[in-house]
Amino acid sequence: MLFEPYDIDFGTQVKLDACLATLKTLRCADSIRVWKTWINGWATSYRLRSTNLYPCLLGCDGAPDDLTHYVRCSHLYALCKYLISHTSADPLTRLGLVNPCTESFKVICCVFGGYHAAHRLAVGGRIGPISSESLTGCQMRRLWSVFADAFNAEARELSLQHRKFSLPQFIEFIINNENQTDLPDRQMSIVRRSEIELFFSRPDLPLPCG
Ligand SMILES: [Zn+2]
Repeated sequence: MLFEPYDIDFGTQVKLDACLATLKTLRCADSIRVWKTWINGWATSYRLRSTNLYPCLLGCDGAPDDLTHYVRCSHLYALCKYLISHTSADPLTRLGLVNPCTESFKVICCVFGGYHAAHRLAVGGRIGPISSESLTGCQMRRLWSVFADAFNAEARELSLQHRKFSLPQFIEFIINNENQTDLPDRQMSIVRRSEIELFFSRPDLPLPCG
């Protein structure tokens, strides 16, 4: 269920022995993060059945804060692609189930750290009340930045090559990649174009808060 609509073929595509052997190349705490990702162990509001059910904390309108969504989340993919340019478009490869290797597992640890930093910001109430349907533009940008800062901190710790995060550069990256087919799950809006156009037409203005 977690990986729908992607098929997992344990006969030829996913080699569990190789996955488990690769897990052993990580530190114990890091292997637990990868394992938790495979077994739907993220602390999402939907899995925890929280009183406040959030939308996707990376900005997909109408999508749930749930790992079943993050497996195919356009915004999460865009962030990963920006931070590590050779990120695969295939969710099963990104999750380390296909072609498992230590580096892809380390990236999972970075994503795990980034998501949970964003989740803590949302739960802590410092970005105001979050609607169950969508984030405001301001909330989305704060959550992107917090995700990326935590991702980068983990990447440094794990000696992973990564790109430094800059919000204006990330928004430009999204615009430049908007029509490319390598951004999956196109039913979600990637970004609110009116806000981007305002930002680039008036760079002297702070980004608008929704
Ligand atoms: Zn999403």
